[in-house]
Amino acid sequence: MEPIVIVGAGLSGAVFAERCANVLNKKVIVIEKRQHVAGNCYDFIDENGIIVSKYGAHIFHTSDKEVWQYIQKFAKWHPYEHKVLSYVNGKLVPIPININTVNHLLGLNLKSSLSMKKWIRSQTIKTKNFINSEEVALSRVGNKKLYELMFKNYTYKQWSFWPKELEPSVLSRIPIRFNKNDRYFDDVYEAIPNKGYTDLIEQMLSNPLIEVVLNTDYFDIKKSLPKESTIVYTGPIDRYFDNKFDVLQYRSLRFETETINTESYQQAAVINYPSLAVPYTRIVEYKKLYGSKSNKTVISREFPTWEGEPFYPVPTQRNRDLYEKYKYEASQIPNTIFVGRLANYKYFNMDQAIKNALQIFMSEFMVSNKYRNTY
Ligand code: FAD
Ligand code: UDP
Repeated sequence: MEPIVIVGAGLSGAVFAERCANVLNKKVIVIEKRQHVAGNCYDFIDENGIIVSKYGAHIFHTSDKEVWQYIQKFAKWHPYEHKVLSYVNGKLVPIPININTVNHLLGLNLKSSLSMKKWIRSQTIKTKNFINSEEVALSRVGNKKLYELMFKNYTYKQWSFWPKELEPSVLSRIPIRFNKNDRYFDDVYEAIPNKGYTDLIEQMLSNPLIEVVLNTDYFDIKKSLPKESTIVYTGPIDRYFDNKFDVLQYRSLRFETETINTESYQQAAVINYPSLAVPYTRIVEYKKLYGSKSNKTVISREFPTWEGEPFYPVPTQRNRDLYEKYKYEASQIPNTIFVGRLANYKYFNMDQAIKNALQIFMSEFMVSNKYRNTY
């Protein structure tokens, strides 16, 4: 019986490989084009003992109990509460917007949730069916000045599109708070793996039935694989079809990473810079996420770009329509399953990527008969 071939050793590929080996007792080959596993979650310990993410800060958060229980099997986690500050008009203010943000930036003196709610209501134009991210933000924040200072320009820097050109999902990610709660996420569970995400994913891939082949592009070896192999593809969906309908856009980031000879660099793990006058969007200080101990610290500035690894599917109408064509095409390919952030062309958080892989594994391998002959 041929092994299952998984393209990509990111989180989605790792979940799938782990399930195929541990549940089906099936041989798996994971092909990864980069020189390491863990995809965009990849992190490493530097010469000062500090855990550093190669592709940007990763905070695990979910309200999905099944996903939370699933990841407990592969790592020890420490609880974490992500807080982000935004540097606006020379001040550091909380984001998501809360009472303190409004008071500091607009010189108000709101004291209670009730007064915050009243103020927000007085500013807001309510829209029922949002058609873009500008409408989402304006219907939440209302105040145009706040919207422009905190979201409009940051979004343009991040995506090279204005919020009104992006689907509602982008700015729906940022809530508004009517109190002084300064946590970034609302989820029930929030944590960081003690030894980092690379270690977590290595644990997932640790079954001897799983063979990982690094530095190998699937398209270079595709022809040499047996025709009847089942393929689980977690790479970009347009690349799978040789971009035949056109290229889907993926936003990337260039990281400028620096080790600094000080114990602590900034007041929060992440500080955002929404002004167009600053070329980067945020500065991340990794120690504050992972809790690494050192008298030095490592920071990364994130510069959005169209070059480099595909990080963010860009939710515009043009890309959505194009993706639908690839999705239909993908449904016609026998023995190939499309899984993960790039193959679904969806802005999945880690918990959503895990859920997506678990659900597809369940439907394709456990419920339907489609791949029964493979195990
Ligand atoms: P990927 O990690 O992209 O993995 C796909 C893998 O496939 C890659 O390793 C790639 O090299 C490989 N591949 C592609 N094509 C081929 C090929 N032809 N041959 C061989 N291999 C191939 N989520 C959160 O929950 N919290 C966060 O704080 C968070 N922060 C993020 C910050 C940034 C900057 C980014 C970009 C993402 C962040 N995410 C976060 C999202 C998280 O990274 C993803 O949910 C997760 O990595 C998705 O895993 P994946 O396996 O689907 O994709
Ligand atoms: N965003 C913004 N201002 C901020 C933070 C975020 O306008 O200070 C917008 C921006 O468009 C971003 C989106 O909200 O892409 C989602 O933010 P998140 O922090 O979830 O981005 P990610 O961590 O996925 O890069």
